[in-house]
Amino acid sequence: MHVGTRVDVAIRGVRVEAPVRRAGGAGPSDDGHLILDGMGAAVPLDPRSPYSVRDGRLWLGETDTGLPVTPVRRPRFYDLTTADGVPYEKIAKLHGAGVLATTVVQTCVRYAESDRCRFCAVEESLYAGATVAAKTPAQLAEVAEAAVRLDGVTQMVMTTGTTNGPDRGARVLARSVRAVLAAVPGLPVQVQCEPPEDLAWLGELRAAGAAAIGIHVESLDEEVRRRWTPGKAAVPVARYEEAWAEAVRVFGRNRVSTYLLAGLGEDPDELVDGAARLIRMGVYPFVVPFRPMRGTLAVRVDGAQAPPPELVRRVTERVAALLRAAGMTGAEQGAGCAACGACSALAAAGG
Ligand code: SF4
Repeated sequence: MHVGTRVDVAIRGVRVEAPVRRAGGAGPSDDGHLILDGMGAAVPLDPRSPYSVRDGRLWLGETDTGLPVTPVRRPRFYDLTTADGVPYEKIAKLHGAGVLATTVVQTCVRYAESDRCRFCAVEESLYAGATVAAKTPAQLAEVAEAAVRLDGVTQMVMTTGTTNGPDRGARVLARSVRAVLAAVPGLPVQVQCEPPEDLAWLGELRAAGAAAIGIHVESLDEEVRRRWTPGKAAVPVARYEEAWAEAVRVFGRNRVSTYLLAGLGEDPDELVDGAARLIRMGVYPFVVPFRPMRGTLAVRVDGAQAPPPELVRRVTERVAALLRAAGMTGAEQGAGCAACGACSALAAAGG
C-alpha cells in the first residue's frame, strides 16, 4: 500500500460501519478498527470522508483503490460479564484484530483543564459510562483469559492515567501484569506510564513480566509540550531521556517506545532529528498523526484541525527509513502500540 494512501486514510477517515471502535479514552485516538491491505488500521469513522468500502475494497470517491479492507469483527468476549456484574467490554477493549487494550486507572492526576493533554479524553469515556474507573488485577486476568481463548488475542497493552503517587501508576501496572500472566502465561504485555520518580519501578515492571514499555512524551519540543501537554511538560524531556535509558537497560533495545505526534506544530526536521536520537538510544519513535478527537480540549476549546496528510507522510517516511537503517521494526517490540501499528503509518512505510 502506498504510504500516502495509508496516511490519508488515517487522517481523513473512512465512511464505514465498524463494530470494533473506541470513542474517547486515553491518548490521541478515537477510531474504528479495520484490516486494511492485511494490516491493522485504526482510522476515524467519518461520514464526510471521501473514502468508503465497497465489495470489500477501499474506494476513494468513484475510484477503486484495489486495497482489501474488512472491519474487525466484534469479539466474543464483549458478550461476557464478570462475576461481579461488569461487562468485559468496560474492562478491556479489542484493538485491531489481536490486541487487548485496557486503561487500568481511568482517571488522571493531570485532568484539570489547566494541566490536561489537549488531545486526551481519558476521563470522558468514564463519564459516558463506557468503562470503570479502576480495573482490578482479577478482572483483567479474567478478561485476558477469555479474549485469548475466544478471540485469539495475541498481545495486551496496559496503559494508565497518571496517578498521584511517585510511581506514576507503575505499582498498579506491575500488579496487573502479574495477575494477567498468572492466568495467561506467556502473553506479551506492554505497559505504558510516565517516568516514575524512582526509576527502579521500571525494573519492577520488567520483573513482573512485562515484555515492553511505552513512556510517551508526545513531542520532544519543550514549547510544543507546554502548549499541548502542560501538566506533563513539568517533567522535562531530560527526565524522559533518563527513563528511556533505564528502560532500554532493563527491557532491552527496541522494547521501549514513545509516541511522537505529528501535527502539533513542531518543526518537521526537528521531529525527525529527535526520532533519530531516540533510535540511537534503542527507543522506537511511534509517529502518529494528531487527530482531533471529540471531547478533547483541542476540539472543544482550540478548534484544532488534523495536520496536512503530506506533512505526516514525509515525516513518517523519513522516520521509517531511519528505523530500517537501524534494523528496528515495530513488530519486534513484541507487544504494544508499535507492535500493533494500527494508529500509525510507519508499518506501511517499512518501519
Ligand atoms: S497502536 Fe496502540 S492505541 Fe493504536 S490500536 Fe494499536 S494498541 Fe491501540
